[in-house]
Amino acid sequence: MRTAAIHAGNPPNPFTRSSAPDLVMSTTFVIEPGISFSADDITENTPWVYTRWGNPTVSQLEHKLAALEGTEDCVAFASGMAAITALFLHVLKPGDHLVMSDVTYAAASELANDELPRLGIEVTRVDTSQVANVEAALRPHTRLVYLETPANPLLRLSDVEAVTQLAHQAGAAVAVDSTFATPVGLRPAASGADYVIHSLTKYICGHGDAIGGAVAGRRSDLAGLRSLAIHMGGVLSPFNAWLIIRGAATLPLRMAAHQAGALAVARYLESHPLITKVVYPGLESHPQHELAKRQLSNFSGMLTFQVADGPRAAQLLSERLEIIHYAVSLGHPRSLIIYLPTEDLLRSSFKLTPEQEASYRAYAGEGIFRLSVGLEDPADLIADLEQALAPLG
Ligand SMILES: *Cc1c(COP(=O)(O)O)cnc(C)c1O
Repeated sequence: MRTAAIHAGNPPNPFTRSSAPDLVMSTTFVIEPGISFSADDITENTPWVYTRWGNPTVSQLEHKLAALEGTEDCVAFASGMAAITALFLHVLKPGDHLVMSDVTYAAASELANDELPRLGIEVTRVDTSQVANVEAALRPHTRLVYLETPANPLLRLSDVEAVTQLAHQAGAAVAVDSTFATPVGLRPAASGADYVIHSLTKYICGHGDAIGGAVAGRRSDLAGLRSLAIHMGGVLSPFNAWLIIRGAATLPLRMAAHQAGALAVARYLESHPLITKVVYPGLESHPQHELAKRQLSNFSGMLTFQVADGPRAAQLLSERLEIIHYAVSLGHPRSLIIYLPTEDLLRSSFKLTPEQEASYRAYAGEGIFRLSVGLEDPADLIADLEQALAPLG
């Protein structure tokens, strides 16, 4: 994985002999007459025409991501949400049915709850950590099962292999948002998933300075998605692709450090008298630790925790933390923390059934802190949390 992260997709430039990946910002390319202007005619061998259709730097990133995920192809997008939107529009048409994890990245939930029904697409949200829930939700017109594992923000896991077997028997494709796991932790395509989604903004870029997204999968499944991307126009900027290529080279090394840091911080938080719950897939106390060990080759750097008075602690942490930034997003070298009040999320993003709501509350109480453990010295992060939380005690 370390070699592929550096070399895949990025051979030396045959003309300039540059060793480091190069950046092509040109929006247009000098062509010969006779090239088709239809996105549908683009193949691997079409020369570069116009950057919305394809760009050498973006293409290098796509090749790298396909190599890391072990898929034939990959299509890059301007953001993770552009990738998810395009995937839904590519796979689903009016009358189709989507089975989706009841708790996912909030914007993906809102997209599915608020926009897809408008297009005549039926959506059933279930807790996909229980395979039986997926089985019960499948219908003859189910076309897609959408998982996120580990899922934001609960860090609940779904068994990709078991869900994929069921979905495929029912004639549905499977998409996995693997942003939290990264290809270092999980390769969903190896478990049969048809589409692997990433917000490249997070660990794969890894530096907090470029937004991007991607869908990896089989070439035949992605051809139509590529045309759709060209028509929708939410394509990745070559400059962002170049930054993400640069970040991806160190992904395996960074993930090892994120995991080590997160485990150290999670163990510290578990021992803290004021902290009532810590959720991290790498902890023995994670309710699905057995699945985590079987499924994940890296537990990633995301953890959540609870304290008795969440809003007060959020205020304290935002004012007093000196190293950890109180901010959204994740997967950066800098540690980031944010408080996610349960009421807010249930109202705006998730719209759960009463049973699902009870299960969410059992996990998250009044609210949880989501901590993206960065690449700092874990002892410094622990000291920072200790001093910031001190007035609570
Ligand atoms: C951030 C994120 C997204 C959305 O990605 P953007 O690049 O912000 O559009 C989707 N899924 C997960 C799990 C994320 O963390």
